[in-house]
Amino acid sequence: MSVLVPRPGIMTITPYVGGESTVPGVERVIKLASNEGAFGPSPKAVAAGKAAAAEMHRYPDGGCAELRAALGSRHGVDEARLVCGAGSDELISLLCRAYTGPGDEVLHSQYGFLMYPLAAKAAGATPVAAPETDLTADVDALVEGVTEKTRILFLANPNNPTGTYLGGEALGRLRAGLPERVLLVIDAAYAEFVTRDDYTPGVELVDGGDNVVMTRTFSKIYGLGGMRLGWAYCPPGVADVLNRIRSPFNVSAPAQAAGLAALADVAFTDKARAHNETWRAWTTERLRDLGLEVSPSIGNFVLVRFPADAGRDAEAADTFLKGRGIIVRRMGVYGLPDCLRVTIGREDEMGAFVETLSAFIG
Ligand SMILES: *Cc1c(COP(=O)(O)O)cnc(C)c1O
Repeated sequence: MSVLVPRPGIMTITPYVGGESTVPGVERVIKLASNEGAFGPSPKAVAAGKAAAAEMHRYPDGGCAELRAALGSRHGVDEARLVCGAGSDELISLLCRAYTGPGDEVLHSQYGFLMYPLAAKAAGATPVAAPETDLTADVDALVEGVTEKTRILFLANPNNPTGTYLGGEALGRLRAGLPERVLLVIDAAYAEFVTRDDYTPGVELVDGGDNVVMTRTFSKIYGLGGMRLGWAYCPPGVADVLNRIRSPFNVSAPAQAAGLAALADVAFTDKARAHNETWRAWTTERLRDLGLEVSPSIGNFVLVRFPADAGRDAEAADTFLKGRGIIVRRMGVYGLPDCLRVTIGREDEMGAFVETLSAFIG
C-alpha cells in the first residue's frame, strides 16, 4: 500500500473500459462496439488533420477560435459561449470539478452514460441514479431525485446505451422542474443522427436561463473519436468557469483542423445520417424477427435483450459473435447483463452480424 492517499472517492472509481477492437486469432474483425461512425471520418477531415500534423511543433490555438466561429454559425449560437474540449468527456469532467465536490450529489438516470458517475466520483461528489421507465429517462423520477445536495443533473439525450430519448416537451418539463441552483447538462452526443421532429438538442434551453449546458462531440457522426474533440454551449458564467479551469491548450491543432473540415463536409454527414436511418431500421427488424427485444433507438446503435436461458443468453451470444470476429458491447457495467449494444456499421458489417446471430439462435 502506498502512503500516498488520493482524495476521497477516487479509489471507489472503477476505471472506464472502452470497447475492444481486436480478437486474438481473428484477422479481420467487425467492430460494432463503440458507436464510431460507420464510414469513419470524412476524407477531407483526414486530409486537414494530416496537414496540421506537419506543424506539430507549434502550439495550437488555445481558444479554438476558428472552430468555435464555425460551430457558432452552423448552430446559430454565440461563439463566445462555446468551449471546446478533448472530447466531451473532458467537458463532463471539468463541469464536475468546477461545480461539485465532497458532500455534493450528481444526479443521472438509471442507465445513463457511465461517464457521469465516474466524473462525479473523481471530483469527490456522490453520483445518484434516478429510476427509468421502459429504459427511458423519467422526468418525474429525475425531479424527485433532486435533493438539497444536488449540484448537477446529467441527461444524455438520446441516451447511450439505451438509444431512447426525451422529446422537447418532456425536456422542457424537466428544466422547469429543477431549482436554479442545479445545473442541467444535456449531453447530445448523438444529436446529428436524430431525424425526429419532436427532438431538440437543447440550444433553446441553454438560451432560456443560466443553468443549462449542452455538450456535443465529434466522436460519433463525424468519426473523429481518436482525435478527441467535443464542445459545450454554455451560459456566459459557465463558459467563463470552464475557460478558467481547462488546460490552456486542451485541444490539439490536428483535432481542431479535422473538426473544422468535418463540419464543412455536409454531404458526408448527410450520407452518414441517411445510412444510419436505413440500417438501424433494417437491423432492428431482423433482430425482432429472430425473437429478440430491441429498444427503439434514435442513435447509431441498438440495445438488444437476450433470453435468460444458459447458452442462449447475452454472454453466450457475445462469445459466439466474438469467435467469428464480430465485436459488440457487453452491458453488465450498466446493470443490463442480459443486453448487448450493437453499433450500426456498414451494410456488409450489419449483414454479417445478423447472419452470425441467426446462426447462433438457430
Ligand atoms: C460517446 C459519448 C460521449 C463522448 O465522447 P467523447 O469522445 O469524449 O466526445 C459523450 N456522451 C455520450 C452519451 C456518449 O455516448
